[in-house]
Amino acid sequence: MNDVLPDEIGRWQRLEKAYARAMSLHGFREVRTPYVEPTGLFKRAIGETTDVVEKEMYSFRHHDDELTLRPEGTAGAARAYIEHGVQAKETVSRWWYQGPMFRAERPQRGRYRQFSQLGAEIFGEPGPGCDAEMIGMLVGFLGEVRVPGVEVFVNSLGGPKTRELYRDALKQHLTPRVGMLSEDSRRRLETNPLRILDSKNPADQEQVKDAPTLHEFLSDEDRAHFDGLRRHLDALGTPYTVDPKLVRGLDYYTRTLFEIKGAHEKLGAGSTLVGGGRYDFLLADLGGPQVPAVGFAAGLERLLIASELEVPAAVVDAFVAPLGEAAIGAALVVARDLRRHGIRCEVDTRGTSLKSQLRRANTLGSRMVLILGDAELAEDVIQVKDLEAHTQERMPRAQALRVVVDRLIAASRGVDSRPPEPLKETS
Ligand code: AMP
Repeated sequence: MNDVLPDEIGRWQRLEKAYARAMSLHGFREVRTPYVEPTGLFKRAIGETTDVVEKEMYSFRHHDDELTLRPEGTAGAARAYIEHGVQAKETVSRWWYQGPMFRAERPQRGRYRQFSQLGAEIFGEPGPGCDAEMIGMLVGFLGEVRVPGVEVFVNSLGGPKTRELYRDALKQHLTPRVGMLSEDSRRRLETNPLRILDSKNPADQEQVKDAPTLHEFLSDEDRAHFDGLRRHLDALGTPYTVDPKLVRGLDYYTRTLFEIKGAHEKLGAGSTLVGGGRYDFLLADLGGPQVPAVGFAAGLERLLIASELEVPAAVVDAFVAPLGEAAIGAALVVARDLRRHGIRCEVDTRGTSLKSQLRRANTLGSRMVLILGDAELAEDVIQVKDLEAHTQERMPRAQALRVVVDRLIAASRGVDSRPPEPLKETS
């Protein structure tokens, strides 16, 4: 679990803002659900035999309640959707969320026990059009936050019937080879054979190499859905790779399944940035209406490692430096007036030397410094120092405020806001 210190928070906020904007451009609205839910919800939604439920949940008992820190966001969103009878109020719901998730995994680069996800769900749209739109949206967002090497992998898991047939076929293929499988996979052969496809163990990979693929078992409807997804992705110009062995760690998926990877060099084995898919039967399985749904979750810490986005380091744009006790009150007023114009501003109230105040202005990345001591107070003037243009001018208080505001606003608009060169004397 990590601390995020103020030096790092700028990049977090920049990504969160870009995400909120992308979501709102696609008609999604934010939902906030509790960090703690009944343990039974995750067991039913994610599946009893998944790694998350078997090994990774932070669960505890409080009086008679069995509770768990949420390991992912879909189960809570689905519970909220059902509990509030949302399907009776609108036929399609587009929700996004953001926040901490908790999994007791072995920590490593890009894998933490408390991590943040950016996620979204669409309830009520059965066709592959919105799956493709979602994937296209994610690729656009990843480009906007400058994640290099983005690759999309898609697969179809078919419906429950397909999975049942495939599960049997896979079991038949692997049972004679059980001796060669890892211990985990031997156990999974009984409980959840599809997960063996996902194993990173080389011995397991060798055994599944020639296994039948799920695609051979897709029904005509499943196949048409998957063809639709690919057609729409082509229409959007979103490149993708079909990976017939793609399965994911959560049990609720049906039909569309996708993963997005990126920035392999920086992330190594943890380069999966986004995982998502369709879960047309989850709501009904949880006792809700038969409403189809599709969603995804992206790991924010991983996005931050992958992203080449830099944010400006400046904490304030103006710094007011009073010299002597008497000037502090006047400096507070100057700073307040600047802030009323939207200028980020700090006053030094320590009563230290000009040199040490200028050092602090520099550390904060402040471009403008307004200096006022006893002499300036007496004449109602301010010394305006522009650290970028390397100028210092003494001017009446009102004019000083105007100059500082104008220069900073021009700079924020990208206009050259340096003071004009003094006119040269011509002879
Ligand atoms: P999942 O909910 O397992 O499909 O994960 C979706 C995404 O969340 C992954 O692709 C990662 O980017 C991120 N993620 C999952 N588990 C962790 C973790 N323990 N630490 C950091 N990010 C994670």
